[in-house]
Amino acid sequence: MSQYKRVIHWFRRDLRLTDNTSLYNAREQNEEVIPVHILSDWKKTHHWTGAGRQYFLTGCLESLAKNLDSIGGRLIIRSGSAVKELEKLIKETKADAVFLNRDPDPFGIETEKKVKELCRSMGIGYESFKDVVHHEKDEVLTQSASPYRVYTPFSKTWMSLEKKEPLPRISKFPDSEILSDLKSLDLPGVDHWGLDVPDLDLPKAGEKAAQSRLKEALNSSVLTKYKENRNSPALSATSGLGPDLRWGTISPREVFAKSQQLLDSSRSKSERESIFTFQKQLAWREFFMSILGHYPEVLETDFNEKWRGLEWDDPEKDDKLERWQNAETGFPIIDAGMRQLQATGTMHNRVRMIVAMFLTKDLHLHWKHGEAYFMQHLLDGEIANNNGGWQWSAGTGADAAPWFRIQNPWTQTETHDPEGEYIKRWIPELKEVEPKRFCKPPESGDPLVSDYPLPMVNHGEEREETLDRFKRHNSK
Ligand SMILES: Cc1cc2nc3c(=O)[nH]c(=O)nc-3n(C[C@H](O)[C@H](O)[C@H](O)COP(=O)(O)OP(=O)(O)OC[C@H]3O[C@@H](n4cnc5c(N)ncnc54)[C@H](O)[C@@H]3O)c2cc1C
Repeated sequence: MSQYKRVIHWFRRDLRLTDNTSLYNAREQNEEVIPVHILSDWKKTHHWTGAGRQYFLTGCLESLAKNLDSIGGRLIIRSGSAVKELEKLIKETKADAVFLNRDPDPFGIETEKKVKELCRSMGIGYESFKDVVHHEKDEVLTQSASPYRVYTPFSKTWMSLEKKEPLPRISKFPDSEILSDLKSLDLPGVDHWGLDVPDLDLPKAGEKAAQSRLKEALNSSVLTKYKENRNSPALSATSGLGPDLRWGTISPREVFAKSQQLLDSSRSKSERESIFTFQKQLAWREFFMSILGHYPEVLETDFNEKWRGLEWDDPEKDDKLERWQNAETGFPIIDAGMRQLQATGTMHNRVRMIVAMFLTKDLHLHWKHGEAYFMQHLLDGEIANNNGGWQWSAGTGADAAPWFRIQNPWTQTETHDPEGEYIKRWIPELKEVEPKRFCKPPESGDPLVSDYPLPMVNHGEEREETLDRFKRHNSK
Protein backbone atom coordinates (compact mmCIF):
# COMPACT_ATOMS: atom_id res chain seq x y z
CA MET A 1 0.00 0.00 0.00
CA SER A 2 1.21 3.49 -0.80
CA GLN A 3 2.40 5.58 2.09
CA TYR A 4 1.63 8.91 0.45
CA LYS A 5 -0.28 9.97 -2.62
CA ARG A 6 2.28 12.47 -3.88
CA VAL A 7 5.87 13.13 -2.78
CA ILE A 8 8.68 15.39 -3.92
CA HIS A 9 12.13 13.87 -4.45
CA TRP A 10 14.67 16.66 -4.19
CA PHE A 11 17.74 15.84 -6.34
CA ARG A 12 20.84 17.37 -4.79
CA ARG A 13 24.20 15.59 -5.13
CA ASP A 14 22.54 12.34 -6.29
CA LEU A 15 21.99 13.04 -9.99
CA ARG A 16 21.21 9.49 -11.11
CA LEU A 17 18.46 6.89 -11.42
CA THR A 18 20.55 3.86 -10.45
CA ASP A 19 20.92 3.06 -6.76
CA ASN A 20 19.46 6.36 -5.64
CA THR A 21 18.18 5.55 -2.15
CA SER A 22 15.68 8.37 -1.70
CA LEU A 23 14.37 8.21 -5.27
CA TYR A 24 14.00 4.44 -5.05
CA ASN A 25 12.05 4.68 -1.81
CA ALA A 26 9.96 7.57 -3.11
CA ARG A 27 9.12 5.51 -6.18
CA GLU A 28 8.43 2.26 -4.31
CA GLN A 29 6.36 3.58 -1.43
CA ASN A 30 4.20 6.28 -2.97
CA GLU A 31 1.77 6.86 -5.81
CA GLU A 32 3.31 9.91 -7.47
CA VAL A 33 6.81 11.38 -7.40
CA ILE A 34 7.72 14.95 -8.38
CA PRO A 35 11.47 15.08 -9.12
CA VAL A 36 12.98 18.52 -8.63
CA HIS A 37 16.42 20.11 -8.73
CA ILE A 38 16.89 23.59 -7.32
CA LEU A 39 19.65 25.69 -8.82
CA SER A 40 21.57 28.04 -6.58
CA ASP A 41 21.22 31.65 -7.71
CA TRP A 42 24.61 33.17 -6.80
CA LYS A 43 26.25 35.19 -9.55
CA LYS A 44 29.81 35.34 -10.93
CA THR A 45 31.81 33.93 -8.01
CA HIS A 46 31.26 31.43 -5.28
CA HIS A 47 33.73 30.46 -2.60
CA TRP A 48 33.25 26.70 -3.01
CA THR A 49 32.91 26.24 -6.76
CA GLY A 50 33.91 27.57 -10.17
CA ALA A 51 33.05 27.53 -13.86
CA GLY A 52 34.43 24.03 -14.57
CA ARG A 53 32.50 22.29 -11.84
CA GLN A 54 29.32 24.21 -12.66
CA TYR A 55 29.71 23.31 -16.34
CA PHE A 56 30.08 19.66 -15.36
CA LEU A 57 26.93 20.02 -13.23
CA THR A 58 24.95 21.36 -16.23
CA GLY A 59 25.96 18.24 -18.17
CA CYS A 60 24.85 16.01 -15.27
CA LEU A 61 21.46 17.76 -15.17
CA GLU A 62 21.00 17.41 -18.92
CA SER A 63 21.67 13.70 -18.69
CA LEU A 64 19.39 13.30 -15.67
CA ALA A 65 16.54 15.14 -17.41
CA LYS A 66 16.95 12.93 -20.49
CA ASN A 67 17.00 9.76 -18.40
CA LEU A 68 13.89 10.81 -16.49
CA ASP A 69 12.08 11.65 -19.75
CA SER A 70 12.86 8.22 -21.14
CA ILE A 71 11.02 6.49 -18.27
CA GLY A 72 7.99 8.75 -18.16
CA GLY A 73 9.29 11.27 -15.62
CA ARG A 74 10.16 14.93 -15.91
CA LEU A 75 12.83 16.92 -14.09
CA ILE A 76 11.38 20.11 -12.63
CA ILE A 77 14.01 22.82 -12.35
CA ARG A 78 13.67 25.78 -10.04
CA SER A 79 16.18 28.35 -8.85
CA GLY A 80 16.73 30.23 -5.59
CA SER A 81 16.62 29.39 -1.90
CA ALA A 82 15.97 25.66 -1.62
CA VAL A 83 13.66 26.06 1.35
CA LYS A 84 11.52 28.76 -0.30
CA GLU A 85 11.35 26.91 -3.61
CA LEU A 86 10.37 23.68 -1.89
CA GLU A 87 7.69 25.54 0.04
CA LYS A 88 6.26 26.91 -3.23
CA LEU A 89 6.39 23.50 -4.87
CA ILE A 90 4.70 21.79 -1.92
CA LYS A 91 1.86 24.34 -2.18
CA GLU A 92 1.60 24.01 -5.98
CA THR A 93 1.59 20.22 -5.95
CA LYS A 94 -0.12 19.62 -2.62
CA ALA A 95 2.65 17.11 -1.97
CA ASP A 96 2.35 14.97 1.13
CA ALA A 97 6.06 14.61 1.82
CA VAL A 98 9.58 15.61 0.80
CA PHE A 99 12.14 12.83 0.20
CA LEU A 100 15.88 13.53 -0.02
CA ASN A 101 19.32 11.97 0.38
CA ARG A 102 21.36 13.41 3.23
CA ASP A 103 24.39 15.57 2.44
CA PRO A 104 27.37 15.12 4.77
CA ASP A 105 28.64 18.71 4.58
CA PRO A 106 27.64 21.33 7.16
CA PHE A 107 25.89 23.58 4.60
CA GLY A 108 23.78 20.69 3.36
CA ILE A 109 22.95 19.62 6.91
CA GLU A 110 21.85 23.16 7.79
CA THR A 111 19.48 23.22 4.82
CA GLU A 112 18.09 19.80 5.72
CA LYS A 113 17.19 21.07 9.19
CA LYS A 114 15.26 23.94 7.60
CA VAL A 115 13.47 21.66 5.13
CA LYS A 116 12.53 19.30 7.94
CA GLU A 117 11.12 22.23 9.92
CA LEU A 118 9.27 23.47 6.83
CA CYS A 119 7.64 20.07 6.36
CA ARG A 120 6.73 19.92 10.05
CA SER A 121 5.19 23.39 9.92
CA MET A 122 3.21 22.49 6.78
CA GLY A 123 2.05 19.27 8.33
CA ILE A 124 3.61 16.97 5.71
CA GLY A 125 6.11 14.12 5.84
CA TYR A 126 9.89 14.40 5.63
CA GLU A 127 12.04 11.38 4.76
CA SER A 128 15.82 11.53 4.52
CA PHE A 129 18.16 8.71 3.54
CA LYS A 130 21.80 7.71 3.80
CA ASP A 131 23.16 7.64 0.27
CA VAL A 132 26.29 9.75 -0.28
CA VAL A 133 28.44 7.47 1.89
CA HIS A 134 28.52 3.84 2.93
CA HIS A 135 28.77 4.76 6.59
CA GLU A 136 27.70 8.05 8.11
CA LYS A 137 29.82 9.88 10.63
CA ASP A 138 28.39 8.19 13.72
CA GLU A 139 28.63 4.71 12.25
CA VAL A 140 32.43 4.54 12.22
CA LEU A 141 33.53 5.19 15.78
CA THR A 142 36.25 3.99 18.14
CA GLN A 143 35.50 1.45 20.86
CA SER A 144 34.82 4.34 23.20
CA ALA A 145 32.28 5.69 20.67
CA SER A 146 34.31 8.74 19.71
CA PRO A 147 35.25 9.82 16.20
CA TYR A 148 38.51 8.57 14.72
CA ARG A 149 41.12 11.30 14.28
CA VAL A 150 43.54 9.07 12.38
CA TYR A 151 42.92 7.38 9.04
CA THR A 152 44.39 3.87 9.47
CA PRO A 153 42.19 2.66 12.35
CA PHE A 154 39.22 4.45 10.73
CA SER A 155 39.82 2.58 7.49
CA LYS A 156 40.13 -0.77 9.30
CA THR A 157 36.77 -0.28 10.98
CA TRP A 158 35.26 1.15 7.78
CA MET A 159 36.42 -1.84 5.75
CA SER A 160 35.11 -4.28 8.35
CA LEU A 161 31.55 -2.91 8.22
CA GLU A 162 29.06 -4.53 5.92
CA LYS A 163 28.59 -2.69 2.64
CA LYS A 164 25.05 -2.41 1.26
CA GLU A 165 24.42 -3.76 -2.22
CA PRO A 166 23.25 -1.18 -4.80
CA LEU A 167 19.53 -0.78 -5.39
CA PRO A 168 18.12 -1.35 -8.88
CA ARG A 169 17.77 1.39 -11.44
CA ILE A 170 14.35 3.03 -11.66
CA SER A 171 12.87 1.73 -14.90
CA LYS A 172 9.48 3.41 -14.97
CA PHE A 173 8.20 6.55 -13.38
CA PRO A 174 4.76 6.45 -11.77
CA ASP A 175 1.98 8.21 -13.66
CA SER A 176 1.28 11.66 -12.32
CA GLU A 177 -1.77 13.84 -12.70
CA ILE A 178 0.18 17.06 -12.52
CA LEU A 179 3.86 16.53 -13.43
CA SER A 180 3.51 17.58 -17.06
CA ASP A 181 1.75 20.84 -16.12
CA LEU A 182 4.24 22.06 -13.53
CA LYS A 183 6.33 25.12 -14.32
CA SER A 184 10.03 24.42 -14.80
CA LEU A 185 13.02 26.47 -15.87
CA ASP A 186 14.94 25.28 -18.93
CA LEU A 187 18.06 23.24 -18.38
CA PRO A 188 20.69 25.75 -17.27
CA GLY A 189 23.91 26.80 -18.95
CA VAL A 190 26.74 28.28 -16.88
CA ASP A 191 25.36 31.73 -17.75
CA HIS A 192 22.72 30.96 -15.10
CA TRP A 193 25.46 31.80 -12.58
CA GLY A 194 26.83 34.68 -14.68
CA LEU A 195 29.78 32.52 -15.79
CA ASP A 196 31.38 32.01 -19.21
CA VAL A 197 31.70 28.52 -20.68
CA PRO A 198 35.16 27.46 -19.49
CA ASP A 199 37.84 26.70 -22.02
CA LEU A 200 38.52 23.24 -20.59
CA ASP A 201 39.03 19.76 -21.89
CA LEU A 202 36.35 18.13 -19.74
CA PRO A 203 35.23 14.53 -19.32
CA LYS A 204 31.66 13.72 -20.39
CA ALA A 205 29.13 14.32 -17.64
CA GLY A 206 26.14 12.23 -16.57
CA GLU A 207 25.19 8.78 -15.41
CA LYS A 208 26.07 6.96 -18.63
CA ALA A 209 29.52 8.54 -18.77
CA ALA A 210 30.11 7.68 -15.10
CA GLN A 211 29.11 4.07 -15.76
CA SER A 212 31.52 3.82 -18.65
CA ARG A 213 34.35 5.28 -16.53
CA LEU A 214 33.67 2.63 -13.91
CA LYS A 215 33.51 -0.09 -16.57
CA GLU A 216 36.81 1.09 -18.02
CA ALA A 217 38.46 1.05 -14.58
CA LEU A 218 37.17 -2.50 -14.01
CA ASN A 219 38.01 -3.89 -17.44
CA SER A 220 41.39 -2.25 -17.95
CA SER A 221 44.26 -2.63 -15.53
CA VAL A 222 43.30 0.47 -13.49
CA LEU A 223 41.99 -1.45 -10.50
CA THR A 224 44.09 -4.59 -10.83
CA LYS A 225 47.31 -2.56 -11.03
CA TYR A 226 46.16 0.34 -8.87
CA LYS A 227 48.68 -0.26 -6.10
CA GLU A 228 51.72 -0.11 -8.38
CA ASN A 229 50.56 2.56 -10.84
CA ARG A 230 48.39 4.99 -8.91
CA ASN A 231 51.31 7.27 -8.02
CA SER A 232 52.48 7.73 -11.60
CA PRO A 233 50.88 10.89 -12.93
CA ALA A 234 51.93 10.13 -16.51
CA LEU A 235 49.66 7.05 -16.59
CA SER A 236 45.86 6.88 -16.76
CA ALA A 237 46.00 4.68 -13.71
CA THR A 238 43.22 5.96 -11.48
CA SER A 239 39.46 5.72 -11.97
CA GLY A 240 38.68 9.38 -12.77
CA LEU A 241 35.43 8.92 -10.80
CA GLY A 242 36.02 11.95 -8.54
CA PRO A 243 33.50 14.30 -10.25
CA ASP A 244 30.96 11.44 -10.51
CA LEU A 245 31.18 10.71 -6.81
CA ARG A 246 30.92 14.44 -6.14
CA TRP A 247 27.68 14.88 -8.10
CA GLY A 248 26.35 11.41 -7.50
CA THR A 249 26.17 10.30 -11.13
CA ILE A 250 27.43 7.05 -9.66
CA SER A 251 26.88 5.72 -6.16
CA PRO A 252 29.70 4.74 -3.80
CA ARG A 253 27.88 1.43 -3.27
CA GLU A 254 28.07 0.59 -6.95
CA VAL A 255 31.77 1.46 -7.11
CA PHE A 256 32.50 -0.66 -4.06
CA ALA A 257 30.28 -3.60 -5.05
CA LYS A 258 31.72 -3.85 -8.58
CA SER A 259 35.27 -3.57 -7.28
CA GLN A 260 34.45 -6.31 -4.75
CA GLN A 261 33.15 -8.58 -7.53
CA LEU A 262 36.42 -8.04 -9.38
CA LEU A 263 38.39 -8.73 -6.21
CA ASP A 264 36.44 -11.92 -5.51
CA SER A 265 36.99 -13.21 -9.04
CA SER A 266 40.69 -12.44 -9.12
CA ARG A 267 43.14 -15.28 -8.68
CA SER A 268 46.22 -13.15 -8.32
CA LYS A 269 47.32 -11.93 -4.91
CA SER A 270 48.82 -8.74 -6.30
CA GLU A 271 45.60 -7.94 -8.17
CA ARG A 272 43.55 -8.48 -5.04
CA GLU A 273 45.90 -6.24 -3.07
CA SER A 274 45.56 -3.57 -5.72
CA ILE A 275 41.77 -3.64 -5.68
CA PHE A 276 41.85 -3.54 -1.88
CA THR A 277 44.09 -0.47 -2.04
CA PHE A 278 41.54 1.18 -4.33
CA GLN A 279 38.74 0.39 -1.89
CA LYS A 280 40.77 1.96 0.90
CA GLN A 281 40.88 5.20 -1.12
CA LEU A 282 37.09 5.23 -0.92
CA ALA A 283 37.58 5.07 2.84
CA TRP A 284 39.71 8.27 2.67
CA ARG A 285 36.72 10.01 1.12
CA GLU A 286 34.51 9.00 4.02
CA PHE A 287 37.25 9.64 6.60
CA PHE A 288 37.45 13.30 5.56
CA MET A 289 33.65 13.52 5.42
CA SER A 290 33.54 12.15 8.96
CA ILE A 291 36.19 14.64 10.09
CA LEU A 292 34.23 17.54 8.58
CA GLY A 293 31.00 16.21 10.09
CA HIS A 294 32.45 15.90 13.59
CA TYR A 295 34.76 18.92 13.44
CA PRO A 296 33.17 21.50 11.08
CA GLU A 297 35.59 24.10 12.48
CA VAL A 298 38.25 22.64 10.12
CA LEU A 299 36.83 24.89 7.42
CA GLU A 300 37.99 27.89 9.46
CA THR A 301 41.01 26.69 11.35
CA ASP A 302 43.64 23.97 11.72
CA PHE A 303 42.28 20.57 12.74
CA ASN A 304 45.26 20.09 15.06
CA GLU A 305 44.87 22.73 17.76
CA LYS A 306 48.60 22.63 18.38
CA TRP A 307 49.28 24.38 15.05
CA ARG A 308 46.69 27.12 15.32
CA GLY A 309 48.42 30.50 15.06
CA LEU A 310 51.42 29.14 13.12
CA GLU A 311 53.29 31.84 11.22
CA TRP A 312 52.31 32.19 7.54
CA ASP A 313 53.42 34.74 4.95
CA ASP A 314 51.12 37.46 3.68
CA PRO A 315 50.13 36.65 0.06
CA GLU A 316 49.59 40.36 -0.63
CA LYS A 317 53.24 41.10 0.14
CA ASP A 318 54.68 39.64 -3.07
CA ASP A 319 53.76 37.56 -6.12
CA LYS A 320 54.41 34.07 -4.66
CA LEU A 321 50.75 33.01 -4.71
CA GLU A 322 50.29 34.33 -8.24
CA ARG A 323 53.35 32.49 -9.53
CA TRP A 324 52.09 29.24 -7.98
CA GLN A 325 48.62 29.77 -9.51
CA ASN A 326 50.04 30.75 -12.90
CA ALA A 327 52.39 27.75 -13.11
CA GLU A 328 55.46 30.00 -13.07
CA THR A 329 57.36 28.54 -10.13
CA GLY A 330 60.26 27.15 -12.18
CA PHE A 331 59.68 23.72 -10.55
CA PRO A 332 58.54 21.62 -13.54
CA ILE A 333 56.45 19.13 -11.54
CA ILE A 334 54.58 21.96 -9.79
CA ASP A 335 53.98 23.93 -12.97
CA ALA A 336 52.87 20.80 -14.85
CA GLY A 337 50.32 20.06 -12.12
CA MET A 338 48.96 23.59 -12.13
CA ARG A 339 48.69 23.53 -15.93
CA GLN A 340 46.85 20.20 -15.81
CA LEU A 341 44.42 21.75 -13.34
CA GLN A 342 43.83 24.79 -15.50
CA ALA A 343 43.38 22.79 -18.71
CA THR A 344 41.24 19.94 -17.40
CA GLY A 345 39.79 20.81 -14.00
CA THR A 346 41.64 17.93 -12.41
CA MET A 347 45.08 17.08 -11.10
CA HIS A 348 46.64 13.73 -10.29
CA ASN A 349 46.48 12.92 -6.57
CA ARG A 350 50.26 12.57 -6.16
CA VAL A 351 50.77 15.94 -7.81
CA ARG A 352 48.02 17.51 -5.67
CA MET A 353 50.11 16.53 -2.65
CA ILE A 354 53.33 17.90 -4.16
CA VAL A 355 51.85 21.28 -5.16
CA ALA A 356 50.04 21.59 -1.83
CA MET A 357 53.18 20.91 0.18
CA PHE A 358 55.07 23.34 -2.02
CA LEU A 359 52.59 26.16 -1.38
CA THR A 360 52.54 25.59 2.35
CA LYS A 361 56.11 24.44 3.09
CA ASP A 362 58.21 26.14 0.40
CA LEU A 363 56.22 29.32 -0.08
CA HIS A 364 54.92 29.47 3.52
CA LEU A 365 51.43 30.45 2.38
CA HIS A 366 48.40 29.37 4.38
CA TRP A 367 46.64 26.21 3.15
CA LYS A 368 43.40 28.23 2.90
CA HIS A 369 44.74 29.99 -0.23
CA GLY A 370 45.38 26.67 -1.94
CA GLU A 371 42.13 25.19 -0.70
CA ALA A 372 40.13 28.07 -2.19
CA TYR A 373 42.02 27.97 -5.50
CA PHE A 374 41.46 24.22 -5.83
CA MET A 375 37.74 24.59 -5.11
CA GLN A 376 37.52 27.19 -7.88
CA HIS A 377 39.17 24.83 -10.38
CA LEU A 378 38.55 21.19 -9.50
CA LEU A 379 35.66 19.33 -11.14
CA ASP A 380 35.68 16.96 -8.18
CA GLY A 381 35.93 19.85 -5.70
CA GLU A 382 34.57 18.30 -2.51
CA ILE A 383 34.66 20.48 0.59
CA ALA A 384 35.62 17.64 2.94
CA ASN A 385 38.26 15.94 0.76
CA ASN A 386 39.78 19.19 -0.36
CA ASN A 387 40.07 20.60 3.13
CA GLY A 388 41.37 17.23 4.33
CA GLY A 389 43.93 17.03 1.51
CA TRP A 390 45.16 20.56 2.13
CA GLN A 391 45.43 20.22 5.88
CA TRP A 392 47.12 16.82 5.46
CA SER A 393 49.71 18.40 3.18
CA ALA A 394 50.21 21.44 5.40
CA GLY A 395 50.80 19.18 8.39
CA THR A 396 47.95 20.71 10.39
CA GLY A 397 45.20 18.19 9.67
CA ALA A 398 43.76 14.85 10.71
CA ASP A 399 46.39 12.15 10.26
CA ALA A 400 48.53 14.76 8.61
CA ALA A 401 51.96 14.20 7.17
CA PRO A 402 54.10 14.99 10.25
CA TRP A 403 55.32 18.58 10.19
CA PHE A 404 58.97 17.54 9.88
CA ARG A 405 58.30 15.35 6.81
CA ILE A 406 58.57 17.80 3.96
CA GLN A 407 58.41 16.41 0.45
CA ASN A 408 61.16 17.54 -1.87
CA PRO A 409 59.62 18.41 -5.27
CA TRP A 410 62.86 17.40 -7.05
CA THR A 411 63.08 13.91 -5.55
CA GLN A 412 59.31 13.48 -5.86
CA THR A 413 59.79 14.06 -9.59
CA GLU A 414 62.56 11.47 -9.71
CA THR A 415 60.35 8.90 -7.97
CA HIS A 416 57.02 9.53 -9.69
CA ASP A 417 57.84 10.99 -13.12
CA PRO A 418 61.38 9.75 -13.81
CA GLU A 419 61.01 9.99 -17.60
CA GLY A 420 59.48 13.45 -17.37
CA GLU A 421 56.49 12.21 -19.40
CA TYR A 422 53.92 14.02 -17.29
CA ILE A 423 55.99 17.19 -17.18
CA LYS A 424 56.52 17.24 -20.96
CA ARG A 425 52.81 16.62 -21.59
CA TRP A 426 51.84 19.76 -19.69
CA ILE A 427 54.90 21.92 -20.38
CA PRO A 428 55.65 21.20 -24.04
CA GLU A 429 58.31 23.91 -24.15
CA LEU A 430 60.41 21.48 -22.04
CA LYS A 431 60.02 18.54 -24.43
CA GLU A 432 63.66 18.60 -25.56
CA VAL A 433 65.03 18.75 -22.01
CA GLU A 434 66.69 15.64 -20.61
CA PRO A 435 64.32 14.21 -17.91
CA LYS A 436 67.02 13.93 -15.25
CA ARG A 437 67.27 17.75 -15.30
CA PHE A 438 63.71 17.88 -13.90
CA CYS A 439 64.95 16.13 -10.77
CA LYS A 440 67.27 18.80 -9.39
CA PRO A 441 67.64 22.58 -9.59
CA PRO A 442 69.56 23.76 -12.68
CA GLU A 443 73.24 23.53 -11.70
CA SER A 444 74.49 26.04 -14.21
CA GLY A 445 72.16 28.73 -12.89
CA ASP A 446 70.68 28.91 -16.40
CA PRO A 447 66.98 28.15 -17.00
CA LEU A 448 66.04 24.77 -18.56
CA VAL A 449 64.98 26.63 -21.71
CA SER A 450 64.99 30.33 -22.37
CA ASP A 451 61.27 30.92 -21.81
CA TYR A 452 60.95 28.82 -18.67
CA PRO A 453 61.64 30.50 -15.29
CA LEU A 454 64.38 29.56 -12.84
CA PRO A 455 63.13 27.94 -9.61
CA MET A 456 61.54 30.73 -7.57
CA VAL A 457 62.94 29.44 -4.26
CA ASN A 458 65.69 27.21 -2.92
CA HIS A 459 63.90 24.14 -1.57
CA GLY A 460 66.58 23.33 1.03
CA GLU A 461 66.47 26.83 2.51
CA GLU A 462 62.68 26.99 2.59
CA ARG A 463 62.51 23.57 4.20
CA GLU A 464 64.74 24.83 7.04
CA GLU A 465 62.57 27.94 7.38
CA THR A 466 59.43 25.78 7.71
CA LEU A 467 61.05 23.52 10.30
CA ASP A 468 62.08 26.63 12.28
CA ARG A 469 58.54 28.02 12.17
CA PHE A 470 57.05 24.76 13.43
CA LYS A 471 59.74 24.46 16.15
CA ARG A 472 59.29 28.08 17.28
CA HIS A 473 55.52 27.64 17.45
CA ASN A 474 55.88 24.35 19.30
CA SER A 475 58.04 25.93 21.99
CA LYS A 476 55.58 28.77 22.71
C1 LIG B 1 45.47 18.98 -1.71
C2 LIG B 1 44.46 17.93 -2.11
C3 LIG B 1 43.18 18.32 -2.48
C4 LIG B 1 42.22 17.36 -2.83
N1 LIG B 1 40.95 17.77 -3.17
C5 LIG B 1 40.00 16.84 -3.45
C6 LIG B 1 38.68 17.23 -3.76
O1 LIG B 1 38.33 18.42 -3.77
N2 LIG B 1 37.78 16.26 -4.07
C7 LIG B 1 38.11 14.92 -4.07
O2 LIG B 1 37.25 14.07 -4.35
N3 LIG B 1 39.36 14.53 -3.75
C8 LIG B 1 40.31 15.43 -3.46
N4 LIG B 1 41.58 15.02 -3.17
C9 LIG B 1 41.87 13.56 -3.12
C10 LIG B 1 42.34 12.93 -4.43
O3 LIG B 1 43.37 13.69 -4.99
C11 LIG B 1 41.22 12.77 -5.46
O4 LIG B 1 40.11 12.13 -4.87
C12 LIG B 1 41.66 11.89 -6.65
O5 LIG B 1 42.81 12.45 -7.24
C13 LIG B 1 40.54 11.81 -7.67
O6 LIG B 1 40.95 11.08 -8.78
P1 LIG B 1 40.28 9.68 -9.11
O7 LIG B 1 38.81 9.81 -9.09
O8 LIG B 1 40.93 9.15 -10.33
O9 LIG B 1 40.71 8.84 -7.82
P2 LIG B 1 40.95 7.29 -7.59
O10 LIG B 1 42.38 7.13 -7.22
O11 LIG B 1 40.42 6.46 -8.68
O12 LIG B 1 40.11 7.02 -6.25
C14 LIG B 1 38.70 6.72 -6.28
C15 LIG B 1 37.96 7.70 -5.38
O13 LIG B 1 38.40 7.58 -4.03
C16 LIG B 1 38.35 8.87 -3.40
N5 LIG B 1 39.71 9.26 -3.03
C17 LIG B 1 40.86 8.85 -3.58
N6 LIG B 1 41.93 9.39 -2.95
C18 LIG B 1 41.42 10.17 -1.98
C19 LIG B 1 42.00 11.01 -0.98
N7 LIG B 1 43.34 11.12 -0.83
N8 LIG B 1 41.19 11.71 -0.17
C20 LIG B 1 39.85 11.59 -0.27
N9 LIG B 1 39.24 10.82 -1.20
C21 LIG B 1 40.02 10.11 -2.03
C22 LIG B 1 37.79 9.84 -4.43
O14 LIG B 1 36.41 9.92 -4.25
C23 LIG B 1 38.16 9.16 -5.73
O15 LIG B 1 37.37 9.55 -6.81
C24 LIG B 1 42.57 15.97 -2.81
C25 LIG B 1 43.87 15.60 -2.46
C26 LIG B 1 44.81 16.57 -2.12
C27 LIG B 1 46.20 16.13 -1.74
